Amino acid sequence: MRIVLATRNSGKVAELRALLADLPVELVSAVEVAGAPEVEEDAPTLEGNARKKALALHAHTGLPALADDTGLEVDALGGAPGVHSARFAGPDADDMANRARLLRDLAGADDRAARFRTVLAFVEGGEVSFSEGICEGHITEAECGIGGFGYDALFQPEGETQTFAEMPSDAKNAISHRGRALAGFAEFLRARLTAS
Ligand code: IMP
Repeated sequence: MRIVLATRNSGKVAELRALLADLPVELVSAVEVAGAPEVEEDAPTLEGNARKKALALHAHTGLPALADDTGLEVDALGGAPGVHSARFAGPDADDMANRARLLRDLAGADDRAARFRTVLAFVEGGEVSFSEGICEGHITEAECGIGGFGYDALFQPEGETQTFAEMPSDAKNAISHRGRALAGFAEFLRARLTAS
């Protein structure tokens, strides 16, 4: 089975290839698809954005398509930035600006509980299936570590003594929201392929 991925992020593609290595699937990144549609992520939920991206790529290629959307939910901020995580500090915000806004908004807060949530949408033959992965943790008082991306330097997963930015990437992938969502998808696909 050929599956097209609605991402241009080579790290995400490599992670999924490793997880599905034992299955008869070929993963094609959006980079390899001529004229792949640019989809505006304007849905009010992670599910909505993932679904929209997967449907657009499926319509463009005719192939089964997989898309993801991730948000950071901070309890003291009522679940923000959530679906707006990529643009938390403004429409053109970069990772550093988003982290700075998060630290500002949480200044003096005792409750720093937060979680990353990833939703994957898989579209095949017009049917959409979802897989979700959650990683609980808290937002640190200051940035720690230089690895990773996004909010990694501010997120310490539950039961760990390091932020995601201080952990080797395979250790992060083993417990991360995206790793868990991908593992759920791999299980779904394995069942789907062995049934047919
Ligand atoms: P996306 O859905 O992967 O594009 O991510 C949405 C936002 O969440 C972006 O600001 C990313 O930088 C951030 N983000 C997604 N995954 C992670 C992660 O594993 N660690 C830190 N930040 C992340």
